[in-house]
Amino acid sequence: MKITHVSTAVVEANYDYTYVRVHADNGQYGTGECFFAPGLTQALREMFPLLIGRDPREVDRLARMLWRKGSGAGAVAGYLYNAISGVEAALWDLVGKSAGVPLWQFLGGKVRDEVRIYVDCHAGDNIESWGPMLTEREPQWLRDALGGQPRGEERYEPEMYFERARQMVAAGFDAMKFDIDSIVVLTGEELNRPLTRAEMDKMTACVAAARAGAGDAVDLAVDCHWRFAPTEAIRIARSLAPYNLLWLEDPCPPENYRDVAEIRGLGIVPILTGENLNRRHGFWDLIVNRGCDLVAPDLQKCGGLLEGKRIGELAEMQGIRYAPHNISSPLGTLASAHVCATLPNFVALEFHGSDVPFWNDLLVRSDCSGPLIQRGRIPMTNAPGLGAELNEAVARRYAKPGEPWFA
Ligand code: MG
Repeated sequence: MKITHVSTAVVEANYDYTYVRVHADNGQYGTGECFFAPGLTQALREMFPLLIGRDPREVDRLARMLWRKGSGAGAVAGYLYNAISGVEAALWDLVGKSAGVPLWQFLGGKVRDEVRIYVDCHAGDNIESWGPMLTEREPQWLRDALGGQPRGEERYEPEMYFERARQMVAAGFDAMKFDIDSIVVLTGEELNRPLTRAEMDKMTACVAAARAGAGDAVDLAVDCHWRFAPTEAIRIARSLAPYNLLWLEDPCPPENYRDVAEIRGLGIVPILTGENLNRRHGFWDLIVNRGCDLVAPDLQKCGGLLEGKRIGELAEMQGIRYAPHNISSPLGTLASAHVCATLPNFVALEFHGSDVPFWNDLLVRSDCSGPLIQRGRIPMTNAPGLGAELNEAVARRYAKPGEPWFA
């Protein structure tokens, strides 16, 4: 079996859903998804000559070859790993289909039959789309969704947290996450100043409202997006402790795990981090030093699905739970679910597309009808490979202008 052709496509959704497809000489192909990045499809195309003529069944050999070639270009971490992760996932889909084996089987077999999802709720009723450098944009679907109205000023009020939590419970979710950093007045100086009393009070009121809307039986997490200095993060943790959080996410900048580890060591609330890290090497200090309670690799950027499994096993050895970050389309979400299905320390996988009106329509599963996420869970099946195909008739309507479509 040999790789004959590799191609890309990009869907312009809330983020750039970036797909890579690997074709083999038996007529089959596999599709993977990458976390967005500037220049990503160009980086992917630079990799393709390295893959042509190679045996796609040698998944780990090829992934390691791409790691090695990338390090020659200076990338021992960073967004070249977004590209490599998509290629690796596409290889697993192809190999699974050609062997008639579901992807979870290659990862050791599943330890659960459905994968629990937590829904990202942002901070209220915002619908948005972001370019690869997080610049705001308005593709046609977003203009249609706004109904010709200009986008309203974003407001972060307790009643919006309450209402959103109730909506998500009604939609069948029993785990959810809200952003709280957006509540802080954005001066660019958050790391250099104490939070005001008003900011702290509002943050606490919003989380209290989310808890009231969700009810006590629902798991509730909050995300800080690396916004705070350790002293402020400790104030936030103490203030939110009464709301029984599943976790407090990324309270401090990601470059130094010691800041997060210090807060985790106080034992006030469980701490989650890790979405910016690549390969086991990136997670090593964090995990070995028990720097967090839950680790959140992003399986579309950490270096591959198998590498994501290995990171989960490292975490398991330290008693650290596993809750992957995920902003991908249903294709990448399902690929991540295959890894989650095989890890005993798994807690919940993120779903970040509740505001994308066509999210559910992008995927067709091979032997499972209905939406990908059902009652807050993804049922895992025995279908070969990923067990689903991109619904290209739908996806192509949202193709990013200027990008090829699996050409
Ligand atoms: Mg996050």
